[in-house]
Amino acid sequence: MAGEDAERTFVMLKPSCVEKGFIGEVISRFERKGLRIIQLKVVKMSREKAEELYKVHYGKPFYEGLINVIAGKTVVAMILEGRKAIGVVRRLIGATDPAEAQPGTIRGDLAINLTDNLVHASDSPESYQREYRIFFEDEELQTY
Ligand code: ADP
Repeated sequence: MAGEDAERTFVMLKPSCVEKGFIGEVISRFERKGLRIIQLKVVKMSREKAEELYKVHYGKPFYEGLINVIAGKTVVAMILEGRKAIGVVRRLIGATDPAEAQPGTIRGDLAINLTDNLVHASDSPESYQREYRIFFEDEELQTY
């Protein structure tokens, strides 16, 4: 990884993002910020993958609803790299509840539902390490 404070993060565009035709809009915001796309793939989410991604939320009241908006649907998974990328991407995405997210953020501008809030991004280096492996093999990451 090149550069001071360089970091990678995992991002998933949720099915609503794909269905609304916002793939380009959202990726464009990441690119304009200066993040580099290390990997990108369109994935049909199995229930198993959805449950693995969201296993920390198992048992919460919104868990089943969350799995149902993802499982069996098409998402876009990607790895982004850049200076302090994990925090940068979380701030670009905005608050979990799109109704509270600041205008100018992705959720603030393009979403309104809480469960179906358009985008997922890793919230720590540990989450990144766990999450990217659900979608990518290490051999796929040697793109730059
Ligand atoms: P984030 O995606 O911002 O990291 P969390 O990790 O807290 O948020 O939650 C994961 C996902 O679970 C959220 O993106 C959202 O889709 C869903 N979610 C979180 N809290 C709620 C809630 N109170 N009601 C419904 N869905 C929720």
